[in-house]
Amino acid sequence: MEAFDYSPLAGRVVFGSGTIARLADEVTALGCSQAFVLSDPHHAAGAALRARDVLGNRAVGLSTQAAMHTPVEVTEKVLREVEHTQADCLVSLGGGSTTGLGKALALRTDLPQVVIPTTYAGSEATPILGQTEHGRKTTIRTTKVLPETIIYDVELTLGLPALLSVVSGLNAIAHAVEALYAKDANPVTSMLAERGIAAIAHALPKIVRDGRDVSARSDALFGAWACGNCLGTVGMSLHHKLCHVLGGSFDLPHAETHAVILPHAAAYNAKAAADALNRVARVLGAESAAGGLFDLASELGAPMSLRDLGFDESKLDEAARIAVAAPYWNPRPIEEAAIRALLDDAFHGRRP
Ligand code: NAD
Repeated sequence: MEAFDYSPLAGRVVFGSGTIARLADEVTALGCSQAFVLSDPHHAAGAALRARDVLGNRAVGLSTQAAMHTPVEVTEKVLREVEHTQADCLVSLGGGSTTGLGKALALRTDLPQVVIPTTYAGSEATPILGQTEHGRKTTIRTTKVLPETIIYDVELTLGLPALLSVVSGLNAIAHAVEALYAKDANPVTSMLAERGIAAIAHALPKIVRDGRDVSARSDALFGAWACGNCLGTVGMSLHHKLCHVLGGSFDLPHAETHAVILPHAAAYNAKAAADALNRVARVLGAESAAGGLFDLASELGAPMSLRDLGFDESKLDEAARIAVAAPYWNPRPIEEAAIRALLDDAFHGRRP
């Protein structure tokens, strides 16, 4: 075993079916009694109200305005609503966008958070917050935004549509793939990465066949935690940088962009991170990580190209320029011409 550094993340995990019923107890366990509930428009008439009902008189407010990429103007609007209450904690129920809003508010208020994730984005398991202002997405890493408690309730994921399940699951796999070749990779995170990729890659085909397959949903949700934990404990590289550029500066949808870019980022790093990517290939039962990830996405019916996502081809040069301007550490050096070629492959959806 080689030498390594590893800092586990504090945070309680409650995992199961019907666990939303334990929300009030979890709020109490944090020493809190006045929860402000956050969610998105999709859950406004359903699960968000259920959370508020479970909280009973421990609920002091509800906002269902969470939006993709955590726009600062939305955060500031909801912050004013939270400040009008005596809230002593935040409950975020929804996908990564809702978790992002909760984290953005926690950053500004220091309120503890209980997160109830309904997608596989994995943000609930990280001390990372991405925010968008004036068309630029910036990311900070601070334990101030790490949720205190995560309640995974498999039942809340049974209605996640097939396509959203697929792109969200591929988003999670992307965290684990990049964790395996991270600069600060370590055996604990790598173990979780392999476990997370396997859980999601094996569950997604079953979910596409039957969204109400509780066992597959459960495996995928566990995989989402494992992959999210990877994102939370080690640094990310080229793939996440490209997705932040395409999402933050060109407004492409988050999870779909991850689904399109991942095979191409794996191909870019194939030689420089051969050991890590061989592990990915082995978990997928494929000859190469890039080919295996492309085929998995294709079999699952994911969008396969930036063109499918409505990206304007004339913006590829600009995207490449922004991506190389402040690069993240990456196993293979970041070269503009090679990144432009990668983006061209991703635009056309060529199999790497
Ligand atoms: P999202 O939260 O925007 O959800 C996508 C869509 O799915 C929304 O319309 C939502 O209403 C709907 N939805 C969510 N759960 C559902 C369910 N169970 N059934 C039916 N519909 C449902 O998208 P996401 O992909 O979960 O998260 C993306 C956001 O999360 C991005 O802003 C991204 O930057 C952020 N993120 C952050 C981190 C981090 O560590 N900071 C990690 C991953 C993602």
